[in-house]
Amino acid sequence: MKKPKISWMKWMSNFFSQVKDILRKGDITDALFENLEELLLQADTGTAAAEYLVAQLKKEASEKRLKDSWKLMDCFKEQLVILLGETISPVHFAVNGPAIFLMVGVNGSGKTTTLGKLAAYFKSQGKKVFLGAADTFRAAAIDQLEVWAHQVGVEVIKHKEGADPGAVAYDTVKAAAARHADIAMIDTAGRLHTKTSLMEELKKVKKVIQKEIPLAPHEVFLVLDATTGQNALNQAKMFKEAVGVTGIIVTKLDGTAKGGALLAIRQELNVPIKFIGVGEKVETLHPFNPSSFVESLLNPQLFQ
Ligand code: GDP
Repeated sequence: MKKPKISWMKWMSNFFSQVKDILRKGDITDALFENLEELLLQADTGTAAAEYLVAQLKKEASEKRLKDSWKLMDCFKEQLVILLGETISPVHFAVNGPAIFLMVGVNGSGKTTTLGKLAAYFKSQGKKVFLGAADTFRAAAIDQLEVWAHQVGVEVIKHKEGADPGAVAYDTVKAAAARHADIAMIDTAGRLHTKTSLMEELKKVKKVIQKEIPLAPHEVFLVLDATTGQNALNQAKMFKEAVGVTGIIVTKLDGTAKGGALLAIRQELNVPIKFIGVGEKVETLHPFNPSSFVESLLNPQLFQ
């Protein structure tokens, strides 16, 4: 896929200056709200998020009897933070024993890469991390995880290709507990999400983990490729229903010129976005904090 020339961060900054242009015009008119909604839709925010934002601004304007459109800017910012999930939800760790994080997502979404980046992120915080190669459908997935584990300097538990993913998950949890790890992150298969068998498989993996640690998994991270738009949302709904997603990790935001997908994802799923991926290298995963994200968009110097 040819990458758009414009980076996501620059795009978001550009998007915000267009919002500013619309709100700077003067009078509050129907045309202003229509222009704003159109801009949001073009940005892939999805209809629900676009309608919500515009409705909130209309409400603000009428309740406060505002005349000057620029006064809507603060309200727009506030509502954006609310849409993105007001407070950052920290990652949940276990009180006793290792925290178990299950990684789910369709093939190609960036699951294994993200797992490697997360391992590096947690290791840099002084955590002892184990990885479990429970995507046993593809030998390449096991190899790829091993490469990451080697690069980051963490242990990986693996079986042969075609082995029972539940058995790998079980061994990973056991090993992590026995060796006093802080975190065990388990990769899973991501074959076609439309096949019920994958969802059944994931449910089984979850059950096996819970036999060993009843409160686990402490996090179920769904990895979504930002460039897949509406499709990502449909996938997300299925995973959420099957295994109860606790956090979303949006990848490939460096490869999309439509960062509004973040809003659509948050709005429709009501699951916090916990990390964003903006590249292939290990340092390109960032914790996601809605308030500082919106603030940074309003301070263009941060993009230089
Ligand atoms: P998986 O099948 O879900 O495990 O996906 P992979 O981890 O193998 O990733 C698929 C491709 O996406 C690989 O070429 C990764 O390098 C790439 N990738 C993953 N995350 C990102 C990201 O944030 N940005 C970019 N540009 N590429 C990414």
